[in-house]
Amino acid sequence: MHCPFCRNADTRVVDSRVSDDGLSIRRRRQCPECGRRFSTTETASLNVIKRNGVLEPFSRDKVVSGVRKACQGRPVTDTDLAMLAQKVEEAIRATGASQVDANDIGLSILPPLRELDEVAYLRFASVYQGFESLDDFEEAITLLRVENEQERERPHTHEPESAHQTTGEPS
Ligand SMILES: [Zn+2]
Repeated sequence: MHCPFCRNADTRVVDSRVSDDGLSIRRRRQCPECGRRFSTTETASLNVIKRNGVLEPFSRDKVVSGVRKACQGRPVTDTDLAMLAQKVEEAIRATGASQVDANDIGLSILPPLRELDEVAYLRFASVYQGFESLDDFEEAITLLRVENEQERERPHTHEPESAHQTTGEPS
């Protein structure tokens, strides 16, 4: 890595720190030539292939703004949305892919959104999956009911995370 001040070709790492979310590494470097210090951030690249074929870096903010509308009037906080976006990013990165279809991001949003709020989930799914009729809603709701039922009957095999799934809808 070149020194950004004197362009010296050799710099050394004086400190490395993993970011709070564990997704990047920040390094402090020092140039032995001019003695100045600078920081670099190392992140595994993750790009989104948009429908028009253009690549753009994955953005949690875009996930949040994509979901926010579906959450209008629902008991979902900004923190919930931020955590959802983080889960989406982690799920995508866990596949090891460095590129992801914009469409697949929608798919990765569905499970954590469902855990967060079922109404928001249905709204988002209706747009994302292009629901056209009441039948589509009915089908999705039936599926939700069946899966919720199965989850209730199943002994607790999965992480405590799903234990705080929203239970009571305000009536
Ligand atoms: Zn230098």
